Amino acid sequence: MENKFIDSHAHLDDERFNKDREDVINALNENGIEAVLDPGADLNSSKLAVALADRYPFIYAAVGCHPHDSKFMNDDAMNTFRQLAKNKKVVGIGEIGLDYFYDNSDRETQKIWFREQIRLAKELDLPYIVHDRDAHEDVFRIMKEEHYDGTRGILHCYSSSVEMAKEFVKLGFYISLGGPVTFKKSKTPKLVAKEIPLDKLLIETDSPYLTPEPFRGKRNEPKYVRYVAEEIARIKEVPVEVIAENTRENFKKLFKL
Ligand SMILES: [Zn+2]
Repeated sequence: MENKFIDSHAHLDDERFNKDREDVINALNENGIEAVLDPGADLNSSKLAVALADRYPFIYAAVGCHPHDSKFMNDDAMNTFRQLAKNKKVVGIGEIGLDYFYDNSDRETQKIWFREQIRLAKELDLPYIVHDRDAHEDVFRIMKEEHYDGTRGILHCYSSSVEMAKEFVKLGFYISLGGPVTFKKSKTPKLVAKEIPLDKLLIETDSPYLTPEPFRGKRNEPKYVRYVAEEIARIKEVPVEVIAENTRENFKKLFKL
């Protein structure tokens, strides 16, 4: 039987899918993909993600603003996210967080809107999806300071240490691994795959970015999430079906599906 995977993070709304989005989406099920979560990166992509979720039963959306674009955030945008989140297919707030690698928005602005959007997740009682690039300490500190009863969510495309991963799990988060776990040189994600228990792991592509081996360099698509699962299965020394099943169950539990 075909393994059924859930891709916990794919930007199907991205313009790199403009030419063949419908074909990619219509082929998901036959490619072994049971469901996909499309997180917003700004106001416009959040709206597009919700539109896709409205149209396809197996696509879910999150709404929020990526740290790159936090310089464009304001209260009106927050209100729009609040309105969009009334849609039943909107299951989370994200992706939100800090990115000190690109610094596309200044760090103080990133921090302000990370905090505000965590508070929105709390207000709406939704999980939130965290992007953390080279900002591990500040991400963890803010998440701890903003922690509340019922906090839950995903550290997406997790890139920090095993020790930090365990701390995030304690805060109520799942650790999602993507393409980098398949890269020969990226040792830390492989260690995380080994050490973090299966009931706390998710898999993702972050399509169209971060394409796993052996397709590195091509546009990423949800169907390649299989290669992420296969690498984790190899590391954990279990059949890939076990990874598929556990990550599906974790996803459904987190988002109450
Ligand atoms: Zn992303």
